[in-house]
Formats: sequence, C-alpha cells, structure tokens
Amino acid sequence: MLTGPPLTRFRKKLLTWFAESRRDLPWRRTKDPYRIWLSEIMLQQTRVAAVLPYYERFLEHFPDVRTLANAPEEEVLRLWAGLGYYSRARNLQKAARQIVADHHSRFPDARERALRLAGIGEYTAAAILSIAYKKKLAVLDGNVARVLARLTALRGDLRSNGKWQELQAMADRLMAPAAPGDWNEAMMELGATVCTPRSPQCLICPVAESCQARKLGLVDSIPEKRKKRAAIEVRLAALVLVDAGNHTLLLSPSRHTLKSGAGHHVAGLLSRLWHFPTVAVVRDAERELLSHVRRGVFPALPSRAKFLSLSPVRHTVTHRQITVQPFRFDVDPLPDLPGAKKLPLRDLGSVPISNLTRKVANAALPERRDRSHSPDRTAILNF
Ligand code: SF4
Repeated sequence: MLTGPPLTRFRKKLLTWFAESRRDLPWRRTKDPYRIWLSEIMLQQTRVAAVLPYYERFLEHFPDVRTLANAPEEEVLRLWAGLGYYSRARNLQKAARQIVADHHSRFPDARERALRLAGIGEYTAAAILSIAYKKKLAVLDGNVARVLARLTALRGDLRSNGKWQELQAMADRLMAPAAPGDWNEAMMELGATVCTPRSPQCLICPVAESCQARKLGLVDSIPEKRKKRAAIEVRLAALVLVDAGNHTLLLSPSRHTLKSGAGHHVAGLLSRLWHFPTVAVVRDAERELLSHVRRGVFPALPSRAKFLSLSPVRHTVTHRQITVQPFRFDVDPLPDLPGAKKLPLRDLGSVPISNLTRKVANAALPERRDRSHSPDRTAILNF
C-alpha cells in the first residue's frame, strides 16, 4: 500500500489527469447537492448517455427539492418512465419530502442523517457529501473496487464481506483529503473510462506505475469473475384492446394484479406503473388471459372471444427474462372501467409506463401486426 512521497505522487497524478481529461457532464458543473443527488440516483445501474436527457428534463420540471416534494407521484414517475428501477424515483421523492420536513429543504451534510433518507446508502451518501460539501468520505462501488483491486493485486471475491471492508479501508487511506469530491470523481472516472472491466487501457493509465496487477501480469484475472446468477424465466400474457380510433385501455398501477402459480408478482414486473391487463402464464396464455380479464377486469368480454396473437415481446429486468405474449382485441367502443384510462395506442406518454408496456404497445401497432400476422382472427364486438 502506498505511503509517503509515492502516495503524494499517486494522488497528484490522478487529480491532474482528472482535471485534464474529465468528461464535461451537467452534474459536474454544479455543487448544488440536490442536482448531485439526482445524478447519483439516476446513474445507479444506468449508463451516462441514457441518463443525460432524463436528468435535464427532470430538472426542468423539478428544479429544487421543494418542487419535487410537492409534485404528484405520478408526475415524478412519468418523467422517470423508460429509465427503469422505479423504486429509485419513488425513494427520491420520499427523501425529498423528508428533507423538506426535517432538514429545512437542504440535503443534510452529515453522513448519519443522509443515511436515514430513503434510497441513500453508504456509496451515495459518500458521493453527495464529498462532492457537494467536501466531506472526507471515500466512495466504494463496483468501479472503484475494481481499480483498487488491480492497483493492489487483491484477489478473491471482492464482494465478500472481509474483502469489501478491506477495499473501503484502502479507499479511505488513498483519498486526497484536500479534495475529496474531485478525488472520488477521479476514481470513478478512471474505472469508467480507463480501468474498465474488459480491456483496460493500461498504456494511457495515469497511475500505471503504481499498479501491482500490471506489474504482475494479472490485469485480466483481477477482479475474479463472479458466477452469474441463473436467469429466471417469466411468461406473461397481455391484452391490448383497440377501438376504431386506435385508442387503447391502460389500467392504473393499483389495479388488477395477480400472483401466478409460480409466485411471480405481476405488479412488480410491470414496475407498478400503468399497464395493459396482464396475467402470469402457467400453461395456456390465451385461456388464462381470457379468464383473468373476464374475472378481474371486465366481465362483459364474451367467453368465446378470440384474440389476435401478436409477436412475443422479450424484456430483461436484472436476473428475470420476461416473455410477454400480447393479444390484440379490436372493440368499439372501449369499455368504461373504473381506474382505467383511454389513450392513443401510439402515444401513451401522458401516464407513466415501463419499457415493457411500451414494447407491448408497439407490437400491437397496425404496421407491426400486418408484417407478421394475418388479421383474420380479430373479432369486433360491441359492449
Ligand atoms: Fe487499471 Fe491498467 Fe491502470 Fe492498473 S494500469 S489501474 S489495470 S488501467
């Protein structure tokens, strides 16, 4: 482990490299804790390029913590729609309300208080407090852990309890105390752009001379590959009702969720957002969907109705591989159902929907349907 002048040189090299090479990102042009907090939450498990348009749009609607705290949850989710992991948005607003109620509308500058906010863990607290308030807290996430493990040639499973603590202690010791925010950002930037999981660019690395993995020829084997969790296959069936004006029906997040025999919670898979009538399939998608819709959504649907079967939609959420069998049913007029909304099939953006629901809607568009299916199974019914 570096100490004395080599440590001073190491810090200087990394900070100089960061000052010269850092990407110009909107959340790096501010010290406003609200904006830094928002960026840290959006960047969890999400690429920078995907976050950029969401970040700007979100701030246009909610420029400060009070506006966010006072907004309807549905509006917050609508602006998050497509970014995924919606509990982040729900927690963000919950924390905004905590900050308004308990912290005079200002993100707290003490670690213990920050950790009491919804959705804030050790990493996020350290990132926000070091960047916004210059608190001496070193961040440790997957990127930083990989850099540290390579610098010190640390082997084994980095996520095991003892190793993670060892890495946190290393991160704390290495941090430049005069510039904790820049230091943390520099470590994260190095992991994201140079010391990447595959093919790290050691030839242009600013700290290559201090790197043990490079010296020992172990760059490709550190960190140790983790065993992939086996994917869980989930089958769903969804019903897209369409009227003559190409409007469809979505159900509110609180309505019509079922537990399948396999125990998959449909509401969770649909991110608790607006959705098509959906059922978890055990055997026969069409029969089970029909029975669900007649029992739980609208009983007036004729029992002998035939749905138009559309191309299956595939979607992955963490370790779940979801296949949805969508069915289209043309019906004019659409039935009036409590807790449901009639929306143009081509433009569902006025309510929050998940990417999965968007894919199902796209599969039911006339041009998509005509390419792969014969329309002869569509029935027109009057309610
Ligand atoms: Fe990572 Fe290579 Fe730099 Fe070592 S020399 S820190 S392995 S990029």
